[in-house]
Parts: sequence; structure tokens; C-alpha cells
Amino acid sequence: MSTNTAEKQSSTPSRKAIPLTLIEPTSPQHFANRSDLMSFDVSAHPWRETLAKSFKTDRDLAKVLQNVRPVDQQVYQVIAARVTPYIAQLMDERNPNCPIRIQYVPEQDELNVAPHEMGDQLSEDDMMPEGTSIVHRYPNRVLFLVHNICGAYCRHCTRKRMVSDPLNVISMERIRRSVDYLREHPEIQDVLLSGGDPLLLTDGKLDQILSMIREARPDLKILRIGSRLLAQLPTRVTPELCEVLVKNRVTLINTQVNHPKEITPLFQERIAMLRHSGIMLGNQSVLMKGVNDDVQVMRDLVMDLVANGIRPYYVYSMDPAPGNSKFQVSYDRMLEIYHGIRGWVSGPAIPTFIVDGIGGLGKMPVQPEYVRKVQDGEQTRLEATNFEGRSADVSYLL
Ligand SMILES: *Cc1c(COP(=O)(O)O)cnc(C)c1O
Ligand code: SF4
Repeated sequence: MSTNTAEKQSSTPSRKAIPLTLIEPTSPQHFANRSDLMSFDVSAHPWRETLAKSFKTDRDLAKVLQNVRPVDQQVYQVIAARVTPYIAQLMDERNPNCPIRIQYVPEQDELNVAPHEMGDQLSEDDMMPEGTSIVHRYPNRVLFLVHNICGAYCRHCTRKRMVSDPLNVISMERIRRSVDYLREHPEIQDVLLSGGDPLLLTDGKLDQILSMIREARPDLKILRIGSRLLAQLPTRVTPELCEVLVKNRVTLINTQVNHPKEITPLFQERIAMLRHSGIMLGNQSVLMKGVNDDVQVMRDLVMDLVANGIRPYYVYSMDPAPGNSKFQVSYDRMLEIYHGIRGWVSGPAIPTFIVDGIGGLGKMPVQPEYVRKVQDGEQTRLEATNFEGRSADVSYLL
């Protein structure tokens, strides 16, 4: 971890960071056992109250789940643990291989860092203009990090180098400088708020930041938010939040649902509320061993998403953040899963499979070649193969 710490310090501004008014839960979680947890009605409580009852250690979780393996404190230095009561209720009580548990329960083997794994594998820190919290990799669009706290911490997080880290808090000063950057760069047409989770901000703070962006750049074509909180605590979606989003003309929210179990009645209800406000919804899954590296699971997931008005947008291969190799699904398996989807599920349910560029190359699509050149002696032919494996010659296209 020593290199990681050095890197964090170098990317942390020397001036004292002013934390945003975040809702760090202070009250302890109160669930003494499983039945206590299961009798908690998430939909009957304001989201911040539920968030304050989150589980923060393996010991907390062991009160409501069986077969939780204890972990050392060092694991929490890589990325903190936090599980909302809503997610804990979705977890299988006994089976550690439950797809929800794999995503959220801390494990000791997260400390096994493979040689190819890096702290900033996407070179985001290098693409951050001085003093801002913007990642400017593409010509016309930027990532705008608004803070580094999430409603729950995913063990596979691509930004574990910065999320949950008190040294990496993003100050209001950096946010102002980022807005200045948007003003100075009219070629930017699309701003994507990320973090951490932007929806963890209070409605007032979110409104403030969105208004600053809209005021600086009234001509922005797209303003989008990446938030997993929709799937981690759906009660975050309220009429008041929708009002803030509509007022600031937020175009699209992308969430992260990795398994059909995450599509609950409460999630469906709150997604419908967002859709009634006219917000487009997309989903970015991460392909994870034991969670969704299975054709049937992926078919169900993408169809259930579309059925709820959420467009499956991307399926990412696991980013090589420290400790992530245990979740890695191979390239060949990725192609097999794509094959198992294309043609077998509805067209609008088919996401683009992505490898995010190492060293800041950006997102690159991965898919089998359905139409390809084949060498027939001297002659080059073009051959098309359909989802069932039947082929035809399409050399007329050459
Ligand atoms: C993913 C990403 C974007 C958005 O990419 P799209 O393909 O347009 O969704 C923008 N900037 C950075 C740095 C990103 O990583
Ligand atoms: S919600 Fe996103 S940023 Fe937060 S821990 Fe999960 S993957 Fe990382």
C-alpha cells in the first residue's frame, strides 16, 4: 500500500480540503440479528435515516449473515466497507457465494494484488487538469468527480484508490475550478457527474452544483449522472430529487445493476418515478466472476432492465484495480457471453461490452466478429455467421 499512499498524497491538493456537507453516518447500526434486519421497512424511512444504519465492518455483517469470514483492518484501508440495510436484506443469509454478497462483503483476499493491478489503472489522475476534479479524456465530454463517498462500497470498485479515502475529499474550491474549466472549454458538450456517488449529496448541494454547471454552460447538450445509489438505496429517489433533476435538465442517469436480484419492487417503483420525470435511464454492469458470468443470468438481467425502462448501456470487463483479479472474467468468456445474448434477447437489451483502456486509452468495445474476411486460396471472401452458428457468403459487400 505504500506506493498507493504516495500517489494519493501527490494528487491531493496541499491546501486544506473543505469537505462537502456529506452525510457520514454517525449513529451505530442497530440490527442485532437477521430478523431484526428483515423486519426493517426500508420504504417507510427517509433515505438518510436508512443510510445511517449501514453496516460498516465484517463484524456488523456477521450479526445478520452466517458464514462471514473475518478480515484484517488492512482490507478497509484499500476501500472501506459499507452495506445499506436494503442491500443486506437482499443478501442470502447463509451462502457466501450469493451474487449480492460477492459484490459487497469484504474478503481477506482483496489484499492479494496481482502484478498487473494498479491504483490508477485508467490514468485518470494524469488527465485531470490542475486544480480541478475533472477527467478530460475524450474530445467533447468529461467526467466530473463531485466527491468520493458512496452509499455502499463495491469490493470491485475501479476507483478504490480514491473512494472512501478521507485524504481524497474533493473540496468546493476544486468544484468551482472544475466549473471554470467547463466555462473555458466550449468544446465540451457533455458532462458526466461521478465520484463517489453524486446522489449521496443532499438535494440542496446537488442542486447547487448542477446549477453552477448549467449557469456556466447553458449550451451543454448532455448532463448526466452516474449513480449506483439507485440500486443500493432506492428510497434516495424522491419527488424532491426529481424536481432538482428536472430543474437542471439532467438528461440521463446511468446506474450499476449487476444481477437480476437487484431489480426489486422498491427499485422498480423508484425507477418509474424517475422515468415519469422524463429522465433517461441506462445501466453499466461490471462482468464479475460468480455474479453475472453466466449467459442465463445476463439474459435475465438485460431483459429485466429494459422491461423497467433502463437501457443496458455497457458491460465492463473488470478493471484491474488492486485486488480485483479474483473477480476477473476472461476475454474468451466475455465473447461467449456476448454470443449468448446477441440474437437470443431483444435488440434494445443488448449492451456494448467494454474494456476500459489501460493507461487512459478510453473505452473499447469487445465483440465477436459476426462478419469477417476469410482467405480462400487466392481469393478473399466475406462470410457472415448468425447467432445460431449458420453462415452465408456476403462477398457482394467487398
Ligand atoms: C466513461 C467515460 C466517459 C463517458 O464515456 P461514454 O462512452 O460517452 O459514456 C467520459 N470521460 C471519461 C474519462 C470516462 O471514463
Ligand atoms: S458505487 Fe461506484 S464508485 Fe462507489 S464503490 Fe461502487 S463502483 Fe466504486
